[in-house]
Amino acid sequence: MNYVFTPAPQASVPVVGRSERFPVRRIYCVGRNYEEHAKEMGFTGREPPFFFMKPADAVVPVNQGETGTMAYPSLTKSLHHEIELVAAIGTGGKNIKAADAQKHVYGYAVGLDMTRRDLQGEMKKQGRPWDIGKGFEQSAPIGPITPAAQAGDVLNAEIFLQVNGKDRQRSTVSKLIWNLGEIIEHLSAAWELQPGDLIFTGTPEGVAAVVAGDTLVGGVAGLGELHVRVV
Ligand code: MN
Repeated sequence: MNYVFTPAPQASVPVVGRSERFPVRRIYCVGRNYEEHAKEMGFTGREPPFFFMKPADAVVPVNQGETGTMAYPSLTKSLHHEIELVAAIGTGGKNIKAADAQKHVYGYAVGLDMTRRDLQGEMKKQGRPWDIGKGFEQSAPIGPITPAAQAGDVLNAEIFLQVNGKDRQRSTVSKLIWNLGEIIEHLSAAWELQPGDLIFTGTPEGVAAVVAGDTLVGGVAGLGELHVRVV
């Protein structure tokens, strides 16, 4: 195949214990999926799951033991962190039942759904799509993917984020309003999941702003830590 210009490189994420990388196809994100976070955003915490996407090339893959960098984005004065458990799809499908969802999961990673909160809020107020608040360059820093068999009980694990060494977010993945099986059931009814899809499963309470120079350290017990500096 010849192209009129060189195609962009395939977005990818490292895999723990493998030299091969995980090629990213789509990034799906779940909105307001922890009750205390839904409340801090002004909602009741009880509503059907809903989804939005980020472009695949928004990933900032960070190797274990390294500190990644993300550039402070344009147009915002309120860049928020959202620490999330990320599920990586290895086997696709449509209309996957929650009970069968686990076998579609290749592995898990720690990710940050970085958000231009002021732009997101403005778009919500105007009834416009909020992509500009969510789907910008480098808006999805992510650590290496741990294959599911090696990941331990991540669906009941502690999840946390520190900024400059101080706790900002700390909760447990078991507090997800819609658990991973239910997320995959709903998602795969709306879109056909494919190998390479990433699902950011939602963030606990404590979202807040960061500025250039801040260092973010996030983790989910059983997975490695994600270290990112905003520059
Ligand atoms: Mn999020």
